[in-house]
Amino acid sequence: MPRDSAEGDPAGNPIGFVRSPTLQLRTFVDDQREALPPVDFAGMIGHLRSQFEEYTNALASAPAGVERGRLLHRMMDDAIATAPRVPIACRYGCCGCCHSEVEITPDEAEVLRERVSDGFEIDRSRLSVQAARERMSPEWAKFWSPENRCVFLSTEGTCRIYEDRPAVCRRSLVTSPPEACTTAGAALAPVRILLVEILLSAAISMEGASFGSLSKMLKPGLQKEFS
Ligand code: SF4
Ligand code: SF4
Repeated sequence: MPRDSAEGDPAGNPIGFVRSPTLQLRTFVDDQREALPPVDFAGMIGHLRSQFEEYTNALASAPAGVERGRLLHRMMDDAIATAPRVPIACRYGCCGCCHSEVEITPDEAEVLRERVSDGFEIDRSRLSVQAARERMSPEWAKFWSPENRCVFLSTEGTCRIYEDRPAVCRRSLVTSPPEACTTAGAALAPVRILLVEILLSAAISMEGASFGSLSKMLKPGLQKEFS
């Protein structure tokens, strides 16, 4: 299996079978453990596990790289479509979140590398500046700094690779005011969708996979073109 085979332990880590759960998935499970009677909690974990295995098997059915990256994007759109409609604050051209440290999987890095290798223009010096930063560098907390702009962001504040945007960008939906996305310490109200978190957790639990900064993941694949 392309994941950690550790069994879930209701008393300890009930999702031990998920090698790399997202923070949101862990938070959801912790909240449910507090809220549900043990028997209901165990049932919920059983459903979570079967959905995790279904997603893992579906992702494993595609070859690693561009194909699996695009499959993840289609599955992510489907998972988001299952969520109840809530009034989100996100609007066309709103791009505070495109000035943050976006995380992608190795497969998604291949999707982006293919676009750039095919001639898609990006600001390579800005990519280098971002890639040289430490993970979670305080520079990212400067939000609107020009150096924080995603290299795929247009001057109009829209995504130039919308159809290939990373899974994390697809799930970046909030009900809080847009200003909260770029204000340190502001109360954010992200839209949480359980299926989305299970899917992302499956993607980063695949063998050899993990989240990394978009800039750090993309630049090494372009090394030849940089030199
Ligand atoms: S997540 Fe925040 S910054 Fe991004 S589009 Fe939505 S409201 Fe705007
Ligand atoms: S890939 Fe697109 S949606 Fe994601 S941060 Fe960059 S510009 Fe924004």
